[in-house]
Amino acid sequence: TIGMLCIDEKGDIAGACTSSGLSYKMNGRVGDSPIIGAGLYLDNEVGGAVATGMGEAILKSVGSFLIVELMRQGKSPQEACETAILRIINQNPNYKDFQAAFIALNKKGEVGSYCIQKGFSYVEYRAGENRNFPSKYYF
Ligand code: ASP
Repeated sequence: TIGMLCIDEKGDIAGACTSSGLSYKMNGRVGDSPIIGAGLYLDNEVGGAVATGMGEAILKSVGSFLIVELMRQGKSPQEACETAILRIINQNPNYKDFQAAFIALNKKGEVGSYCIQKGFSYVEYRAGENRNFPSKYYF
């Protein structure tokens, strides 16, 4: 999955995601990426979030919507991503067997990211420069 969140100089936010889905998926499976609220959600009043990883767990948590609503309540993008990943961990006793990751962006241009397992990273393009950041992770 490729997820992208953008903010312009006026503070307007846009987002997109695209995915080939999980390897060896069942024919006809629909993952989280095309489902608004699961793989992607944004509200131009608040911010946006996108997901990658185990679509079933992301769908069950409605994770991207959850993150935007948590930011609306005052959480930072980082805190909101951590809360959403903890929700997935609490909902899935087998969480050690899969990856799920979120990135989030708020109206101030602050960015957060969190994932279950080590290994996810994201790129920030700011002031003409790309910088790679390893995501914080649960284990
Ligand atoms: N989230 C995608 C899906 O479950 C897979 C991925 O991110 O690699 O369809």
